[in-house]
Amino acid sequence: MTAAVRDVSIFGEAIAYFNEAADLLELDSGMRRILTHPTRQIIFSIPFQRDSGEFEVFTGYRVQYSFARGPGKGGIRFHPGVTLDEVTALAFWMTWKCAVVDLPFGGAKGGVTCDPATLSSSELERITRRYAAELVEVVGPDKDVPAPDVNTTPQVMAWFMDTYSMHVRQNQPGVVTGKPLEIGGSRGRVEATGRGVTICTLDQMEHMGLNPKKAAIAIQGFGNVGMYAAKFLAERGCKIAGISDVTGAYYNEKGIDVAAAVSHAAKFHNLEGFDGGERISNAELLVSDCDVLVPAALENVFTSENAPKVNAKLIVEAANGPTTPEAASVFKERGIVVIPDIMGNAGGVTVSYFEWAQDRMGYFWKESEVNERLEDVLLTNLREIRAIAEKRGATLRTAAYTLAIDRVVKALKLRGIYA
Ligand code: NAD
Repeated sequence: MTAAVRDVSIFGEAIAYFNEAADLLELDSGMRRILTHPTRQIIFSIPFQRDSGEFEVFTGYRVQYSFARGPGKGGIRFHPGVTLDEVTALAFWMTWKCAVVDLPFGGAKGGVTCDPATLSSSELERITRRYAAELVEVVGPDKDVPAPDVNTTPQVMAWFMDTYSMHVRQNQPGVVTGKPLEIGGSRGRVEATGRGVTICTLDQMEHMGLNPKKAAIAIQGFGNVGMYAAKFLAERGCKIAGISDVTGAYYNEKGIDVAAAVSHAAKFHNLEGFDGGERISNAELLVSDCDVLVPAALENVFTSENAPKVNAKLIVEAANGPTTPEAASVFKERGIVVIPDIMGNAGGVTVSYFEWAQDRMGYFWKESEVNERLEDVLLTNLREIRAIAEKRGATLRTAAYTLAIDRVVKALKLRGIYA
């Protein structure tokens, strides 16, 4: 989802979180300067022909923020609100997200300013192929590895992979992740982000002494991430008291029947008309009576206005950037624990890494193997973040940035700055 309109630079705001951790690490000004500048920003025109024969030109972006720890990694977003500022911020976040879970990747992100709702499948294919063709020299399994993001599907990844492979005259499934299984995708990738949210939530609840059988969980968003998080948490015996999507929210203090909600959403494509709970507003869900809140929809949902009214003891950020810096300060003052997005939703990029590794080996794992490795990666790093937070008296967000920045800085120092 693209950011709600706020009159601030998204990249500028993202740097605020970075600075807090950089202060804690006593990072010198030269290193700060390097880390707050993207390595490469690419902007290009995408001429394309409508099915009607008419020509249009869209703008495409790829920002390769850092290569310190490996090839770039990050999704491609097709949305009318895509800007260079947004793509840069997302590439910046990808740098820390990959580092916080210790993947051998840098950070990148791409996008096209277009409205896929107005595009036919063949128009979408033409835009994707031209976008990929413009990037042939700068992406690749050892250069930069895109993935799906808002409005880009496994099919879009398949077209991207095919276009790149045609240009380099060899099959290169490792150039993108999030592909369909038939052409080098990984088992477990589709569910990976929601599974990762579940792993982080259960571990943090245990740490905080919240009984998963008794605590109430509310989840905002019932798309890929929110729906799988609800499903897996319910399967582990948790009570999902609230769910929502763009059509509205539902609350049931006895617990929502998640399987019924999943069937409803599969049948009607959203939750409209779901009768398994009291209908409340989306705003009410965020301040509802619950112990754990999982924002899994949009950016900037917690603000200085609603943060003081949040009842949850734990927030697990499944969406990217759901908490404004002002809301983060309120949560800190109120002692509300927040697992930050770069950790909370890192399950997706972790299984993308597994996909890239499997493509390069040409050997594909069973789903149980993917899930076991995912749990190991997430728990190892979540526990490390927690230890840093406890040692330094910092929030989990600052601790996560501290761990990520420290890893990137160590890699940069070992390689040396080629200045
Ligand atoms: P999606 O499009 O599948 O689902 C988004 C959901 O949010 C939908 O159910 C939609 O109805 C709901 N929604 C939209 N506006 C809402 C509102 N105002 N109130 C309540 N619900 C609303 O998207 P997704 O893939 O599930 O991604 C959700 C978030 O997770 C995004 O921030 C995305 O960047 C992030 N994320 C996704 C992945 C992934 O693997 N899909 C990985 C990392 C991060």
